[in-house]
Amino acid sequence: MADQTYDYDVLVIGAGPGGYVAAIRAAQLGLKTACAESRATLGGTCLNVGCIPSKALLHGSEFFEEAHDGTLAKFGVKMSGVELDLPALQAEKDKAVKELTGGIAFLFKKNKVDWLNGRATFVDARTVSIDGKAVTAKNIVIATGSSVTPLPGVEVDNVQGLIVDSTGGLALDRVPKHMVVIGGGVIGLELGSVWRRLGAKVTVVEFLDQLLPGMDGEVRKESAKLFKKQGMELRLSTKVTGATVKGKTVTLTLEPSSGGASESLEADCVLVSIGRRPNTEGLGLEALGLELNKRGQIETDDDFRTKIDGVWAIGDVIPGPMLAHKAEDEGIAVAENIAGQTGIVNHAVIPSVVYTMPEIAGVGLTEEDAKANGPIKVGKFPMTANSRAKTNREPDGFVKVIADAQTDRVVGVWIVASLAGTMIAEAALAMEFGATSEDIAYTCHAHPTHAEALKEAAMAVTGKPIHI
Ligand code: FAD
Ligand code: NAD
Repeated sequence: MADQTYDYDVLVIGAGPGGYVAAIRAAQLGLKTACAESRATLGGTCLNVGCIPSKALLHGSEFFEEAHDGTLAKFGVKMSGVELDLPALQAEKDKAVKELTGGIAFLFKKNKVDWLNGRATFVDARTVSIDGKAVTAKNIVIATGSSVTPLPGVEVDNVQGLIVDSTGGLALDRVPKHMVVIGGGVIGLELGSVWRRLGAKVTVVEFLDQLLPGMDGEVRKESAKLFKKQGMELRLSTKVTGATVKGKTVTLTLEPSSGGASESLEADCVLVSIGRRPNTEGLGLEALGLELNKRGQIETDDDFRTKIDGVWAIGDVIPGPMLAHKAEDEGIAVAENIAGQTGIVNHAVIPSVVYTMPEIAGVGLTEEDAKANGPIKVGKFPMTANSRAKTNREPDGFVKVIADAQTDRVVGVWIVASLAGTMIAEAALAMEFGATSEDIAYTCHAHPTHAEALKEAAMAVTGKPIHI
């Protein structure tokens, strides 16, 4: 369908999981495609400073903790003089990032996607200027992602490394003695876990009265219990009102969230992780007359069309959970819609995973939201009764299946378990296919696997689990 009026059929702005996937899919569908990305490497937040480097550090720090705390010794792996080689861990992380970002460059070449390296600004709905050079396209997809939300009074300086955001928190060249994490959400708990495992005392300061907003209430409570058991100090219902740096010490001022007497807390590293905000600054949206919603996001319809003809948007810059796989699925759908096909994302079935130990995962409705919709049945199964988890000495957590009381259709699944991130995929697939709890309960699951806990939780919906 190459239209000679334009340089490209599709120009994607941003090469994160949303943008690079959209570009590859568009090219696969025969559209002449380019992707503008201002970073020196492709892959966006996720591959460069997000999902991938954080998982490398989580993986490595878990080995260190298991070697250090006697977990490996219990299974007969005797070690003495276990030491942390932080530069080696950081180098392994950097290697993974390099390999994966390089992999996207390879995929762009393979699929004939032109990477236009530079910062894109809209001139009009069919033209962007990329570092001063005009490029035209019949369709332009905004996939510019998100950046760290700043906290007034607590200024991030990733170079100095005393007050850092997630990017700085992934690159520390020392293990802090006391790290204060501001924000008990996904980033705070993942990176807090990394540095705690490597030897830091970690205090999490959270504005709300529970960690992990948006997750199921019971999961939030259980998570807090487990993080405390691991040695994290949790300061819930507390806000940080300011920070001063003197030498290598940061002094934070804390206050109860509802107001009251302030106190101070000292740390040699502070991680600011209070959320992320959409990247729209400098994009020239004024030139299009494209307005943002109250949360600074670009609104689209279900096909990912914005209000401006020919301009589409996906990923962290639009409403919905800020997750890489959500952005990727929207990338595929938007390309298919541009090509005249029917690209759909089922936003009701997007799993989310916190990659701590145990992992914390969910898909669909929380028990609270499901109850508000009508009568439900809930089945629960503890990991301590799952033979594989017990054998592996990973007894923490549970699986919870929430089903509609009348139809038995599964509306939500929540898992706290060492392999929750892997187990939740089955729940998402079942929900995508409209499964009932009975469908899951009567599906044969291999033994011994953690996944059997999902089958048992589904059996528990009708009061018939076997192993408890
Ligand atoms: P991004 O990945 O943010 O990519 C946008 C790209 O656009 C960037 O590379 C940016 O440089 C570029 N760009 C912006 N403006 C312009 C412009 N004007 N011109 C040219 N280029 C531009 N999600 C998960 O699902 N799982 C995880 O485990 C996970 N871990 C995370 C860990 C951390 C520490 C962080 C910070 C995030 C994590 N996330 C995770 C979230 C995930 O990274 C994002 O949801 C995902 O990257 C969003 O993809 P995107 O394509 O919308 O945007
Ligand atoms: P978040 O929204 O998950 O958590 C931020 C937390 O900070 C919330 O609990 C909020 O109540 C708290 N908070 C806000 N202001 C505060 C203040 N002034 N003082 C104390 N607490 C405050 O945000 P995040 O952890 O920064 O992560 C950002 C995004 O990145 C998330 O939307 C998440 O989806 C994504 N992410 C995903 C993964 C994953 O999928 N495993 C990992 C990392 C990041």
